[in-house]
Amino acid sequence: MTGVIITGQNNHNWPVSHVALKKTLENSGLFKMDVAVSPSAGKDMSAFTVDFSKYKLVVLDYNGDPWSDDMKAAFEEYVRNGGGVIVYHAADNAFTEWDEFNKMIALGGWGGRDEKSGPYVYWKDGALYKDYSPGFGGSHGARHEYVMNSRCNNHPVVEGLPARWKHATDELYDRMRGPGNIKDLLYSAYSPEEKGGSGREEPLVFTVDYGKARIFHIMLGHAGDSLEDNVAMQCTGFQTLLLRGAEWCAKGKVTQKVPADFPTETEISLRPDYRPR
Ligand code: ZN
Repeated sequence: MTGVIITGQNNHNWPVSHVALKKTLENSGLFKMDVAVSPSAGKDMSAFTVDFSKYKLVVLDYNGDPWSDDMKAAFEEYVRNGGGVIVYHAADNAFTEWDEFNKMIALGGWGGRDEKSGPYVYWKDGALYKDYSPGFGGSHGARHEYVMNSRCNNHPVVEGLPARWKHATDELYDRMRGPGNIKDLLYSAYSPEEKGGSGREEPLVFTVDYGKARIFHIMLGHAGDSLEDNVAMQCTGFQTLLLRGAEWCAKGKVTQKVPADFPTETEISLRPDYRPR
């Protein structure tokens, strides 16, 4: 399956993240990934285009200047026609003013987001809850290891994965806002106030209700300083979700088995070489 990673501008270390994404996807033997690198911030974006018709999978690792109207229209057409999209980490910080994009990601943060962007959405009393109180959208406390809590066990991406598993040290996005059109919430995690978080159970991994499109949004995976110092993306749980989400985006089903080195509730698991065991 052939896909493309869109990168080139980010307040995160995109030279590391896009390589880690590409290695993880390609080392599985399931994907061949092209990389579309945008001009750098402030430069002319008019010639930056992607031929989406070539791809079964688009991975968004981009948080920067607005795309051209042609590029936006091409992406909207790809998604409207049932395209597969992974929204990875800070990609959901992008494009506050692009309404259609915000419907594709369901929840976003930073970039001036506030109550005009949509409600806060979090897990409360056994269901997703929409909180329309005013305030900024997007925050996170200090990085730490945290336990992921399953909210769905029969979606192809998570079928067979444990109900609780420990993610390696990472940011835990909280107080995200947006249209909130989450289709299937797959995993949430509790954001503790003592770490600077929200005190809420935050939706971190989900699919988006957007027509025929298959959109997989994963807020995990803050990039480190180098491929070697990149623990959040080296987490076996992150890589497994990325790979299973990618296969589901590309073809609507998942053939990958649950890996033996998957983290448990008490033990993290790392794949420093971005390669399945
Ligand atoms: Zn981050």
